[in-house]
Amino acid sequence: AITVNKVSKQFDNIEVLRDINLTVNKGEVVSILGSSGSGKSTLLRCMNWLEQPDRGAIYIGTERIGIDDRSQQPMGNKQLAQLRQRVGMVFQSFNLWPHLTVRQNVTEALIHVKKLHRDEANQIATRQLEKVGMLEKQHNYPITLSGGQKQRVAIARSLAMSPEVMLFDEPTSALDPERVGEVLTVMKQLSQEGYTMVVVTHEMEFARAVSDQVVFLEKGKLIEQAPPEEFFTRPKSERVQQFLQTVR
Ligand code: ATP
Ligand code: MG
Repeated sequence: AITVNKVSKQFDNIEVLRDINLTVNKGEVVSILGSSGSGKSTLLRCMNWLEQPDRGAIYIGTERIGIDDRSQQPMGNKQLAQLRQRVGMVFQSFNLWPHLTVRQNVTEALIHVKKLHRDEANQIATRQLEKVGMLEKQHNYPITLSGGQKQRVAIARSLAMSPEVMLFDEPTSALDPERVGEVLTVMKQLSQEGYTMVVVTHEMEFARAVSDQVVFLEKGKLIEQAPPEEFFTRPKSERVQQFLQTVR
C-alpha cells in the first residue's frame, strides 16, 4: 500500500499540491486524471520522493519516506534508496540505457544495485521480458525498438526490482496511436496479477476498465475520488462533468 497524507507542495510560491490525501491499497489500481498543470506528475514524484512535499507525509507500506519519523530530519541516502526500491516508476519517456541491450537494461540494477548474482538476475530478466512480450528482442539495443516496445522493456525493468507499488506517469502519451494498445494490454495484465498501481493517464477507457478508484486533480486539489462506474457516469463535481464532456 501507499499512503499520501495531507501533502502540499509549492513551486515558486504557487501551490501545486494542496492538502492531498490518497490511499492506494495492496492490489488496487488508482488512476489519476486532470488537465495539464493540475499537479498529477508532481503528486506521483512526491510518492517516491523525487520531489519533496512542503507538508504532509508519504508512507510506503507502514514506513514513511523521506523524513525520519523519530528525528523529523531528512532520511539518510541509504535508507531513502531502500524505500525507493519498493516503488517502481515508469515515465512517459522510456529512459532506457542506449548502450545496453534489452536484457542488460533489465539486469543492470539487479546486479549493481540489488547485488544479485548474474545468473539470478538473468532468470528474473527472462521472466519479466516474457511477461511484457519482449523476450524475443532481448539482444536488441533500444534504438532498434518501437516506442511501445521500449516502454514494455521499461516496465519489465521496473518490475524486475519487485516493487510493492508501480507508478506510471502517462506511459502511453509519447507513443504512436497504434502502439498505445500493446502497452495498455501489459498494464491491464499487471493489474489482473494483483500489482498495486498508480496511473496518471489520459486513456479514459483504460481508467474505466482497470481502475478500482479514479481521482481527479484540479489546480493541485483532489476534487473527486470514486470507483470508475460512479466517476464516469455520475461525477459529483461540475468540473469533472465538464472534463468528461470534453474528452468524450
Ligand atoms: P501534465 O498533464 O502537463 O503533465 P501535470 O498535471 O503533470 O501536467 P505537473 O507537472 O505536476 O502537472 O505540474 C504542476 C504545476 O507545477 C505546473 O504549473 C508546473 O508548471 C509546475 N511545476 C512542475 N514542476 C516544476 C518545477 N520543477 N519547478 C517549477 N514549477 C514546476
Ligand atoms: Mg505530468
